[in-house]
Amino acid sequence: MAINVTPIAGLDPAVNAVRERTARLVNDLILPNEDALWRLRRGEERSDDGRLAAKRRSIELRESIKAAIFEAGLWAPHLPREYGGAGLDFLSLSYMYEILAYAVGASSLFGIAAPNSGNATILAKYGTEDQKRQWLLPLIAGEMESGFSMTEPDHAGSDPRSIRTEAVRDGDQWVINGHKWFTSNGVNANFFIVMCRVSDSSGEYGRAGQMTQIIVPSDTAGVTIVRGIGIFGRETSDHCEILYENVRVPIANTLGRVGQGHEAAQDRLGAGRVYHCMNAIGQMWRAFDLMVARAREREVHGGLLRDHQFIQGFIADSYLDLQSARLMTINAAQKVADNDPDARTAISGIKIFVPAAFHRVVDRAIQVWGGAGVSNDLPLAQMYQTARILRLADGPDEVHRILIAKHVLRRFDAGTGWNFA
Ligand SMILES: Cc1cc2nc3c(=O)[nH]c(=O)nc-3n(C[C@H](O)[C@H](O)[C@H](O)COP(=O)(O)OP(=O)(O)OC[C@H]3O[C@@H](n4cnc5c(N)ncnc54)[C@H](O)[C@@H]3O)c2cc1C
Repeated sequence: MAINVTPIAGLDPAVNAVRERTARLVNDLILPNEDALWRLRRGEERSDDGRLAAKRRSIELRESIKAAIFEAGLWAPHLPREYGGAGLDFLSLSYMYEILAYAVGASSLFGIAAPNSGNATILAKYGTEDQKRQWLLPLIAGEMESGFSMTEPDHAGSDPRSIRTEAVRDGDQWVINGHKWFTSNGVNANFFIVMCRVSDSSGEYGRAGQMTQIIVPSDTAGVTIVRGIGIFGRETSDHCEILYENVRVPIANTLGRVGQGHEAAQDRLGAGRVYHCMNAIGQMWRAFDLMVARAREREVHGGLLRDHQFIQGFIADSYLDLQSARLMTINAAQKVADNDPDARTAISGIKIFVPAAFHRVVDRAIQVWGGAGVSNDLPLAQMYQTARILRLADGPDEVHRILIAKHVLRRFDAGTGWNFA
């Protein structure tokens, strides 16, 4: 199986070139080795059971693919060249993500796996020179891992202003107390970027304007990983519940200014939502190709699946879902690139529409594959879970619906109406 990429008419030739370079790497290097890479990522290539040689070969394979990606100028494409990234512009990145997402787990091979990529982006933008040296460069080099610790069990994540984790200044240190959960990559992280509420001078909680991000090394006294939260029936995961109890870090670990926490989070999430959607589209594309391939070859009741109208309906509806999700996302990416005032509305729109379309396409692909569809032999089951999670993470659907309605109503209240473009 290979992703079928041809130049898009009217698109900047440089962006088309990025798409084609990415597709070559995906088709020639990643897809043929996907199984071994997947086993390695899931920790199934263990070194303690006589399969040391297999594990070593898989690691060598992974490193050689990373080197080829670096050589092709596509490693860490979201980061400026001065930090070892490829420095691609927003549109090139968006078009690149849909292609690399066609291959399972390719994001880590390109140095853009979450949450490290988002953390690197805000460190590059808000970090001091010391912070960049200490945290950003090792993160980019793959020598460190990180987590982003915002959501709390006792306060609504969909209303980030309700966060209660508190940082109080004591001389040249912050003292942090709070309870977080769903901090992804928490098991492996060397440091966390923790969203805190900073007390004002009168000792009262500050207003939302005092939300602040603080870098906390994971081995600091008082940081306790309570558990990796089991999800979708699995016993554990790397999405962690974490206690921060009298955690002391230098004031120099403040990321950006005190009170800039929300701005930095929006910086991370705004662009991130477009990338997540392009990622979802790449996976949908793969699910679509898998569904069509199976329909063309599987015989049931004396005929091929492709000749049954139920299945033709699945193919047609999935084409509609994929094409509309893709066009909406490209439109949103263009609005972000143009600093269009409607960009936020467009982002909320794709954040609702794309995960739902992704869910529907994968669901149909699973149905066409029958039992194999939910097995680990195919990436569909994993995609199904990802699609469901995307409807919650980075703001649940309802919050984005409210945002869209507010933006539309505001425009009508101003007497202009909405201009679809
Ligand atoms: C796999 C996974 C990984 C994650 N990784 C991270 C991470 O790395 N770092 C991190 O900080 N967080 C992470 N999260 C947390 C995620 O961002 C939150 O779950 C999300 O923001 C929702 O917050 P909540 O769970 O507190 O739900 P709540 O805020 O309690 O909301 C529950 C539900 O209420 C409904 N709702 C909310 N507001 C409204 C409204 N105004 N009107 C009507 N209905 C409403 C929605 O249906 C929503 O789903 C992750 C979550 C998952 C599942």
